[in-house]
Amino acid sequence: MTVRTRFAPSPTGFLHVGSARTALYCWLYAKKLGGKFILRIEDTDRERSTQEAIDAILDAMTWLGLDWSEGPFYQMQRLERYQEVVETLLKSGHAYQCYCSKERIEQLRIDRLAKKEKPRYDGHCRHNNHQTQSGSYVIRFRNPDTGSVEVEDVVHGKVIVQNSELDDLILVRSDGIPTYNFGVVVDDLDMNITHVIRGDDHLANTPRQINILKALGASLPVYAHVSMILGSDGKRLSKRHGAVSVQHYREEGILPEALLNYLIRLGWSHGDQEIFSRDEMIQYFDIQDINKAATIFNTEKLLWLNQHYLKTLEPSSLVPEFQRHLENLGVYADQGPPLQDVLLAQRERAKTLREMAEKSVYFYQDFESIDKDAKAKNLKGDIAPGLKALREALSLLPLSKWHAPAIHNAIVQTAEKLDLKLGKLAQPLRVAVTGNTISPPIDMTCELIGRERVLNRLDRALTQIWG
Ligand code: GLU
Repeated sequence: MTVRTRFAPSPTGFLHVGSARTALYCWLYAKKLGGKFILRIEDTDRERSTQEAIDAILDAMTWLGLDWSEGPFYQMQRLERYQEVVETLLKSGHAYQCYCSKERIEQLRIDRLAKKEKPRYDGHCRHNNHQTQSGSYVIRFRNPDTGSVEVEDVVHGKVIVQNSELDDLILVRSDGIPTYNFGVVVDDLDMNITHVIRGDDHLANTPRQINILKALGASLPVYAHVSMILGSDGKRLSKRHGAVSVQHYREEGILPEALLNYLIRLGWSHGDQEIFSRDEMIQYFDIQDINKAATIFNTEKLLWLNQHYLKTLEPSSLVPEFQRHLENLGVYADQGPPLQDVLLAQRERAKTLREMAEKSVYFYQDFESIDKDAKAKNLKGDIAPGLKALREALSLLPLSKWHAPAIHNAIVQTAEKLDLKLGKLAQPLRVAVTGNTISPPIDMTCELIGRERVLNRLDRALTQIWG
């Protein structure tokens, strides 16, 4: 048997991190077992589905590297197929046309609620002779009245629901569009899905889906319902907690490796290992080991992982995304040091690519003014002679010798000549050429900023001190 998993997002917004984790688990499981990972877009909610959301989801999946083997399939392109399947259910007596008006259904709901009962359809149209009816209708599933449904869930164990708890759910609406539960069943069946791995917010739907599958004479997939991700207040992670989309984390400068590593651990573990390469994830992951308990999203840990990957991934692989972050700040890297060199110099100093970009603007653009506090503390009048001497020493270095070791020597020699401690000279130099007090080692920083810019910025600082 080839394992076939699927990820089936509804395109009503950006890709939520919780959905991304589900997608990751589906992807990993298929990869691990040499199976297929199918992408299906559940776009039947016509009011809330948008092309923009579809694009955003596909984009986020691609960015995460969760490549799909088949699809994307779109439910709205499969309406005929749902019609075909519903016809067989109508013929076999497992479905019926329901002509009840909205008003009747609403009244039923009100009456049941008044009696403190769960709203449910009362089966009014079960015995209709639909040949004699006219007007618009929906198609309902004829749920068994007795017995129970057992869900053997890999994560939650056995869940038993009495059929008397389930009503005759709508399969196809009056406009011919299937409901979620029906679309999923037909698709999972047609796409030969062997493992349904999804959020446990769908666990309550599973008995209904099993009943439909049984009515179709189909065998059941394996179910694994993954717990929800919670915000710091213990409530389900949602927009109320701030941004929750994969896109948001990308814009914040999180790396896909870090986000995936973070998400896999949020609901699954392998001993106390925290860092997993993609290959290790594939090797170690198993749906049997998914945790049942919901977990709280921890941004600090995500940042920690991100920094780990910033420091350890091949810098050249980070260049395109780093460049994108700089461009978001209006900084274009063609007039400055190679991005890869800046990445290498900065990677210990930033937790995200965005932060790194923000801290790297001075390599490419002159800053408008020096930070006020940095200036007050480091560019006082008494440093002017030292800085001037340093400017002269640096200007003696030709462009061909403009490298960190030579720059370092120039600083050391100037400090010795003027009997200054190295830091007394290096920090004012840093403030003068970067506009602030934090940067990579100053010789490296000067090399990257470039000879002409360094000398110009020193001149500018000197004019300001004396001016
Ligand atoms: N379209 C559903 C959702 O986005 C997923 C359903 C499923 O995986 O069965 O929640």
